[in-house]
Amino acid sequence: MSQAIPPLIREEQLHERIREMGRQISRDYAGREPLRLIGALKGCFVFMADLIREITIPVRVDFMEISSYGNAMQSSGNVKIIKDLTHDIAGEHVLIAEDIIDTGLTLNFVMEMLLARSPASLEICSLLVKPAKMNLNYPIKYQGFAIEDHFVVGYGLDYKGFLRNLPYIGAVSSNEQLLLFDQLN
Ligand code: 5GP
Repeated sequence: MSQAIPPLIREEQLHERIREMGRQISRDYAGREPLRLIGALKGCFVFMADLIREITIPVRVDFMEISSYGNAMQSSGNVKIIKDLTHDIAGEHVLIAEDIIDTGLTLNFVMEMLLARSPASLEICSLLVKPAKMNLNYPIKYQGFAIEDHFVVGYGLDYKGFLRNLPYIGAVSSNEQLLLFDQLN
């Protein structure tokens, strides 16, 4: 049996911060509705489900999937589109909802690609940011929490596809905590 993964950000802290972010987004985009919220799968889905319910202006969603890490714990530098958006974002006010920004490599690629599609505006919202190695070429308009450079899981973030169901953000502090998931096929 794996050891429990210690919480870095508790459930209540997440919900409180996301409520604030939703209120701020609703205020900032009032008068420019509708908003298009774009999620980068798969990690974003828990955050986005909570965030959208805190937004009080007309909002629509779309999703894309880009690969950046594969199954490893370090950025591969390889970014490719697995699933593109369903909708044309030309002329729309678009907000990208990210789970975590580490190097910023994935997001640089996504931003360039989406800017080329001529949205009315394009901004970034990320639940977590790791400033240590960040090399993002664009400003982050909405940021949940800045965290130290450790590997985190839960609340949508995975290890080898697992642990997305953890209700809090946990910081992995020993390999023992991941043993169970290394053994599962
Ligand atoms: P970046 O391109 O900014 O280095 O990496 C972004 C992506 O890497 C995130 O969307 C996420 O999928 C993954 N990632 C970065 N740091 C972590 C982490 O600490 N834990 C997990 N589970 N994924 C991470």
